[in-house]
Amino acid sequence: MYTNIGRKIKGLAKAQAIIMAILCLGAGFFLGVAGVPVLILAGVVAALIFYIGSWVLYGFGQLIESAQRIEEKLNADNNHQTIYTAPQASNTYYNPQPAPSKAKPSVCPACNAPCHGNGRFCEKCGNMLY
Ligand SMILES: [Zn+2]
Repeated sequence: MYTNIGRKIKGLAKAQAIIMAILCLGAGFFLGVAGVPVLILAGVVAALIFYIGSWVLYGFGQLIESAQRIEEKLNADNNHQTIYTAPQASNTYYNPQPAPSKAKPSVCPACNAPCHGNGRFCEKCGNMLY
């Protein structure tokens, strides 16, 4: 019932556009002949609007259809190849370790001034120490 939904949406978009266009053109023509000629034009404009509006729904159906085709292709590929195997549970993938902390040098590597205090930058030249 819900298979091939992309193609169904496309069909719905087409059917809706055609039915609404016929209704608008018919009603406009009918009322126009009955004595309000401008409604013929209004009917044509309304039919055009329904036609253009159907592009959005049709495009959505096309999008679903394409995505399904890609999905099927990917699944078929996975059945023939063993490239995409699920990673084994092990510590090699996720091994959270703190970044290695560098020791603070005793003298500035840029200007050789002795480093006092806990600042990250040389007090003399401003060089980053670690
Ligand atoms: Zn320095």
